[in-house]
Amino acid sequence: MITSHPTSRKMASSQKQACRHLAISALILVSFFVDATSSFAIHPSKSIHPSPSLYGKDQKPLYVASKSVQQTSLTKLCATESSTSENEIPTETTTKQPHVVILGGGFGGVNTALTLTSLPFSDDTKPRITIIDKKDRFVFLPLLYELCVDDASVDEVAPTYKDLLSGSGVDFVCAELDGIDVQNNIVHTSSVESSSREQVSYDALIVATGAEIDLKSIPGAEEFALPFYTVDECFELKRRLSLFDEARKTKEQSKPVNVVVVGGGYSGVELALNLSERLGKEENGVDVTIVHRGNDVLEYATEYNRKTGTDRLKKAGVNVMTQCSVTEVVPASISSSSDTDSSSSLDRYKCIVNLQSKDDSSPTSPSSIDADILLWTAGATPPNPRKSIRNSLLPRDQNGRIVTGPLLRAKGLSNVFAVGDCSRAKQVPYAATAQVAMQQAPVAAWNTYATLTNQSPDISDEGKIKLLPFSYANLGEMMTLGSDDATISSLGGLFQISGESASVLRRLIYAVRMPTARQGIVAALDGTNRRVKRKRNDGKNGKRRRGTKVIDWK
Ligand SMILES: Cc1cc2nc3c(=O)[nH]c(=O)nc-3n(C[C@H](O)[C@H](O)[C@H](O)COP(=O)(O)OP(=O)(O)OC[C@H]3O[C@@H](n4cnc5c(N)ncnc54)[C@H](O)[C@@H]3O)c2cc1C
Repeated sequence: MITSHPTSRKMASSQKQACRHLAISALILVSFFVDATSSFAIHPSKSIHPSPSLYGKDQKPLYVASKSVQQTSLTKLCATESSTSENEIPTETTTKQPHVVILGGGFGGVNTALTLTSLPFSDDTKPRITIIDKKDRFVFLPLLYELCVDDASVDEVAPTYKDLLSGSGVDFVCAELDGIDVQNNIVHTSSVESSSREQVSYDALIVATGAEIDLKSIPGAEEFALPFYTVDECFELKRRLSLFDEARKTKEQSKPVNVVVVGGGYSGVELALNLSERLGKEENGVDVTIVHRGNDVLEYATEYNRKTGTDRLKKAGVNVMTQCSVTEVVPASISSSSDTDSSSSLDRYKCIVNLQSKDDSSPTSPSSIDADILLWTAGATPPNPRKSIRNSLLPRDQNGRIVTGPLLRAKGLSNVFAVGDCSRAKQVPYAATAQVAMQQAPVAAWNTYATLTNQSPDISDEGKIKLLPFSYANLGEMMTLGSDDATISSLGGLFQISGESASVLRRLIYAVRMPTARQGIVAALDGTNRRVKRKRNDGKNGKRRRGTKVIDWK
């Protein structure tokens, strides 16, 4: 373990050592992440590299050579030419090309689609691949905090599908999913712009509609709380923050801004720390409170990340209320006489959050707190089945997740797969993380490829392609703790780092994990550019940023 030392010589040598460790660790970690997450090359221009798990014991690929498979089409409804124009639903043609439809263009959906483009379908059996999503942008959710505090651009965090998928051979349709008719292999959609409805037929379907935050169960939450789950919600938070900036300038806001974050998991802690930094730059800047139902914040994090996160919360003065639930949210009584635009807009969100503590007898647990901004990060569930996947006979658990086996295939349906947050592949569900969705994507793509190919009447029993089970490899976890601070714990605790170097490394790893190489370059350049600019400004303003606190290389 390397920490700072009193004498400058020792400090210089420890810093050199730290840098060396950091460089080595960075290389190992980056290559580890690249190797472990990309079971296949994900861009069509790259060659196909099945992961070791896709090879048989004799190191022969488990798939058969594509040219030997004469696949016949299973579809009647399908478009001929690949196009990436949005809102164009594939039309009926006479071609026999199979159609793979992917519902939801998040981590699971996009990575499944891109992997499919690199699988060895022969030219005449290559399927048309369509992603359907209600939004026109892919969102790299782990960087949403950076987008909120102007530490990343919208093009880095949320590129349009048009840009992201251009040249990939994957079509994109911007539409809301209405229902799935699994008996007739048809997806029902409605346009996001008009009331028009469409039907899209499929030969294979991958459901990857993710999760959303449900505010309905707490009275008043829908009216006052802002979830932090989408780009729109992120921009809404940015708008409210700038209203406070305005109100400060005009002296209408002289008190600290009360921010209440519900949920003390990864998102709650990361958001609390970033907002604390963003609003805390001014004197009397901000009072941030985390309300958390569990015994400890970051309950599921590694011990190292939990300790580092808890330490940073303490240093930032974030008030943490554990074993505490929100029972109701009610409007605050507004005493302000000012009626300027910014103050009246701000008043609209002021509320009182009523709480119930497990230990009501404790004199330190208040029964309510005031909030100028109430943010909700707790309790993400798959999208409301009645709203988003109605009329579907997909097997679901009591939380609405589509039940699959290890092959990621919906129970009882041979051509429907589900990945990511909307699915449950085993009794105890996998964590709802991008890491799980990204690792499931190549398996779902492979199994789709195998299913379509095996249905060909020309394929013999021996030539049939084996479907592969999903198995999860935990690569570790990374958290942002502020613009120049992060914590990373990987390789089962062998590699642990926090502080500024971790922050640089985290952005670098995320650049590598963008769905396409081009998007990775955009992310790396944008992230570096902003960091350099910020450093320059900090230098001018005489501010000191947080340095690397600990490098722990066991
Ligand atoms: C702020 C934040 C930070 C996070 N940080 C991390 C992190 O650091 N590491 C990590 O591993 N995980 C992180 N996660 C969790 C991770 O982002 C999710 O687990 C991951 O996105 C799940 O991928 P998915 O493909 O299942 O769903 P998503 O990525 O959520 O994609 C679902 C897609 O389906 C679309 N959709 C939903 N319903 C419909 C419908 N009815 N019609 C059409 N389209 C629909 C949505 O628009 C969306 O594009 C974070 C999450 C958040 C919110």
